Amino acid sequence: MISLYGILDAGQGQLFGEPGPRLFSDLCIDPLQATEACLYAALRTDGGDGHHGIAEAIARGAGGIIATRPPELDTAGLSVILVKDVLGALMAWAHAVIGKLGVQVIVVAGSAVRPVTVEAARAVLSTRHRVVTDQTGGQGRISIPLTTAHLTPEDRFVIFNLDPAQPGEMSEMISAAQPHSAVIPQIGVGFSDRFGSPDAFAAELGLIFDYLSPGGAAVINYDDDRARALLSRTRSHPISIGIDGFGADLVAYNIVIGPTRTGFDLRFRDQRHLGRWTPLLGQHQLYAVLGALALGAHYEIPLPEALRVVAELDPLPGQMKPLPGKGGALLIDNSAGADPTTTLSALEWLNAAADPGQRKIFIFGDLDRLGEFSQRSHRLIGQKAAELSDLFITHGADAALAGRAALDHGMDPGAVAITYGVQDVLTRLEADSGGLTDRDLILLNGSPAARVELITRALLADRADERLLPRGDRSDRHDSADRPIASSWVEIDLEALANNVRALKALIGPQVALFAVVKADAYGHGAVAAARVALLNGATYLAVASMAEALALRDAGINAPILVMSYTPTQAIRQAVRQQITVTVYDLELAREYDRLARENGGRLKVHIKIDTGMGRIGVLAGNAMPFFRHLLKLNHLEIEGIYTHYANADSDPAATAEQTRLFKSVLVPLKASGYQFKYIHAANSAATLTDKETHFNAVRCGLALYGLSPSPTAQVPSSFRPVMSWRTVIASVKVLPPGHPVGYGSTYRTSDEEKVAVIPVGYADGLRRAPQHQGYVLVHGQRAPIRGRVSMEKTVISVHHIPNVSIGDEVTLLGTQGNETISADEIAERWGTINYEVVCSVLARTPRK
Ligand SMILES: *Cc1c(COP(=O)(O)O)cnc(C)c1O
Repeated sequence: MISLYGILDAGQGQLFGEPGPRLFSDLCIDPLQATEACLYAALRTDGGDGHHGIAEAIARGAGGIIATRPPELDTAGLSVILVKDVLGALMAWAHAVIGKLGVQVIVVAGSAVRPVTVEAARAVLSTRHRVVTDQTGGQGRISIPLTTAHLTPEDRFVIFNLDPAQPGEMSEMISAAQPHSAVIPQIGVGFSDRFGSPDAFAAELGLIFDYLSPGGAAVINYDDDRARALLSRTRSHPISIGIDGFGADLVAYNIVIGPTRTGFDLRFRDQRHLGRWTPLLGQHQLYAVLGALALGAHYEIPLPEALRVVAELDPLPGQMKPLPGKGGALLIDNSAGADPTTTLSALEWLNAAADPGQRKIFIFGDLDRLGEFSQRSHRLIGQKAAELSDLFITHGADAALAGRAALDHGMDPGAVAITYGVQDVLTRLEADSGGLTDRDLILLNGSPAARVELITRALLADRADERLLPRGDRSDRHDSADRPIASSWVEIDLEALANNVRALKALIGPQVALFAVVKADAYGHGAVAAARVALLNGATYLAVASMAEALALRDAGINAPILVMSYTPTQAIRQAVRQQITVTVYDLELAREYDRLARENGGRLKVHIKIDTGMGRIGVLAGNAMPFFRHLLKLNHLEIEGIYTHYANADSDPAATAEQTRLFKSVLVPLKASGYQFKYIHAANSAATLTDKETHFNAVRCGLALYGLSPSPTAQVPSSFRPVMSWRTVIASVKVLPPGHPVGYGSTYRTSDEEKVAVIPVGYADGLRRAPQHQGYVLVHGQRAPIRGRVSMEKTVISVHHIPNVSIGDEVTLLGTQGNETISADEIAERWGTINYEVVCSVLARTPRK
């Protein structure tokens, strides 16, 4: 319960207008989850401003608002509290309430395993007492007031899940919560991005022990070096927990790992309890169980009673949760609780729990928040996966590193799949086995932001089990902590790319090969990920513009054939032979050099002959093709795999295209008559592929259409295609300019009346073009905001006069969709006076891809 006057007092707030309700049943920060009679807190975070949600919260029944400024709407009948700092006021209020109620406060801290520990401790203490627990899963400081709002005078215990978002927050959380006891089930290397290093994080955790009261307990994982080091620091009653070793006060040993439960014997000082078990899986969850048992012991819950409780715990959603999968497979969903330590523990579990005949499948999504530990941790997990799993599927760009590490570690390439989208994981599973069976044990593991639960969902035997998955609503929302810290970022929708590739493949049919053109870093979309997704969805060949681009793909571990469509210098031929890269030939002298170099390097070089049928760029003129070919045949170290041409007007002139096709065929007929079989004959780019089946031959080379864009108004991608790239930034400043005020270099714009303008921290150095035309508009809150004045190198002014409540940190879309509005690459191209190809390629490489 929250009392209006309690908040006003503790938070030094002021009433705005007449008070409405004086008592609130709950506190809420998400306007979409506002309920009848709750107090809505308009929190301001760098991810956005809760003041924008006030109208929504009121519409859903909120009876009161706590905010820093009066809402721009009618608040009659509501209680409106104005404070300087909403979060600070709520923390002060929580401090006052906890002090007044005299409840026993327990905090659970550390990296992963906190939610499971909170739940296990709740179950144990609830045998004798009333307990309130943190239901937020830890959301930084706000979780303290959110949990405090549920306290009543009858409650004996409250358990907080301490999840500080940055250094310094821990001490604020501790002084608001005033803990008596603490449990640290694990420290590991989690949170290294926020705290700089695991040691810095451990130091922050140490602050808890300075606070604990002498009558409380400090329950600490003895097997975690950083946690053990904290034992000496507490004035309260220390209880160490451990697995299999000596030295800890409470030890589980003789661990028996089963597919649905974990058995153990327990030693607590001089007591022993044999043959116990819990349905929680993995060593990391056993620490949560031990933590709860230790707390129970401290608060005089008899151990046998507590052991009965932990034998009946229900695994939490996303925390090693067993679920029936398709075909009788057993799924273990660990999509909410993964960090490097828990992932390794889960993988050890997979290996130990599987029967000898069972297939151990490990599906691994990105782990985030690891800072400088990210690469090392992902690689280590890849190495372990090579040892402990039979099929290893990675999902996402960081997890791809683990896939590479598994390959480097000697895992069979057929047993490793590196993917970037849910559909790709499913396709790969299907391809591997034609479906799941009851011989499959599947571990699905990743950070919440990787959304691995979407893969689990697709593999469920019964869709109704969906409710047993993590809701994932936190990762649905734009979590500002997950945004790149750069001033703008490009979002690449690889599911859309996968969709487009499949649609193109369906359009050309099974007899025609799809070459995915990923030159120019896949038209700015990121070549490695784009290539992998294309190959998983129906493309069988890649095409690039240079040997450097081809080698970058090989370096990333891509083994598919790659065609270099442009000039290859002779000094690159050695690499081409070694790395099996196909080059284009169109000049006899050069071809002879290639042949000599291939011979010297002890191999054969694959080549495609390029015919010029009207482009006027590289290529043998149609009339010279026959003699060229005869000479080429004598070069024994060249393997002629294909022949191709390129259209000049496929997007605009069907007749000219037909003429080029006719000319190309006139070259092919005598070559074929002389008995030569080309494996690949190709001509079509995206425009020709989309508009003219005659151009397909037995392969097509598509670029633009893969990325969901249309080559021209007369060569459109079907409506099922979706653009892959969006480009976003945030508002850096908002202010109202007086009438007649100039904007930007050269003062090319002057306000006529008062005008509310905002600054976005991007400019021409990022690819936001300045001249001769800029793109005209960006999107803010789903509405068009015109650009004012000139675009500078790294700043641009926009008008937000017509858009209410714009504030610093709000997301801005430069390219893509926001709400119901879209700024398309076509629209920008139109304003620039160019083509959409150039638009997507111009968002500079220095802008991070997400
Ligand atoms: C770039 C390129 C393509 C792909 O063109 P799209 O219009 O993007 O499909 C095909 N062939 C050659 C030779 C190219 O250079």
